Amino acid sequence: MSQKKGRVFSGARPTGRQHLGNYLGAIRNYVALQEDYECIYCIVDVHALTTLETTRDLRQNTYEMALDWLAAGIDPEKSIIFVQSNVPQVMELHTYLSMVTPLGKLTDLPTFKEKARQQPHNVNYGLVGYPVLMTADIVLYKANLVPVGLDQAPHIEFAREVVRSFNYRYNTQVLIEPEMKVTEVPKVLGIDGQQKMSKSLNNHIELAATPEETLQRVMQMVTDPQRVRRTDPGNPDVCNVFTMHKVFSKPEEIAMVNVECRRAGIGCVDCKRLLARNLNEHLAPFRERRAELAQNPETIWEILRQGAARARVIAEQTMQEVREAIGLP
Ligand code: SF4
Repeated sequence: MSQKKGRVFSGARPTGRQHLGNYLGAIRNYVALQEDYECIYCIVDVHALTTLETTRDLRQNTYEMALDWLAAGIDPEKSIIFVQSNVPQVMELHTYLSMVTPLGKLTDLPTFKEKARQQPHNVNYGLVGYPVLMTADIVLYKANLVPVGLDQAPHIEFAREVVRSFNYRYNTQVLIEPEMKVTEVPKVLGIDGQQKMSKSLNNHIELAATPEETLQRVMQMVTDPQRVRRTDPGNPDVCNVFTMHKVFSKPEEIAMVNVECRRAGIGCVDCKRLLARNLNEHLAPFRERRAELAQNPETIWEILRQGAARARVIAEQTMQEVREAIGLP
């Protein structure tokens, strides 16, 4: 691990079974990064508590998500994969970082305002401090890189500011300012063709769906709205089905759809069937591996426990330096 180019940290809320949006936006990249970086991937269950009104599904969602990550190729031999609450040092660091973070800065953040608008009945203290906990997640492991989309840039800038405030306040260099590792991800929308793919909007396609379910979801996809009849020429540039073809189909198939759609040579039904077939082919090895892993759920929990044990070693080392820098007795 020491030969690697740097340390990457990324976290995601336990949302259960993952979908194509998760795969293209994060998981695929997580798997690729393992080759060159020391990677730490965290299922951030404490973050989830800021918005969850019941924890009934939390454990199952954590399990399903870990299962998908592992089946997709996150390798516990190469990377640390663990659950946030299993490393309590993050809560301690969160508290110390909160002392150097002005409250106004947090309440001014657009993400906080948006959340407060979404859940006006539950604007809790944890929700305000969310970005501070996120900063603690990253800097606890002295990660220098955080893989993000460009829309996440303000969060990383915020984390850097908190680190600078801490280091300045205590005259130390203990904490490292993380940097963004921006990754280009295809803009794949949900099957409604309108919004980002998301479970809560029920416009998603699950990675672990059966081939039949996948075909059914693809058949529901909204296409070029101007193409009403089979004989109308379409415009693949505005069609989400074509966007997915560009990710999952062979170059000659992409070229064919690009030409035939425009001259009504191919109908949307056939175009979608082709996409569903390619999607199912692409996901077949994942689904096979997932089914194998699912035969023994205890293995998944053990991987998470071992990951947390490794994470705690790094975390405790950082915390000893942090406590000393602050001057805690
Ligand atoms: Fe979209 Fe394919 Fe229909 Fe063209 S033929 S509008 S690319 S689904």
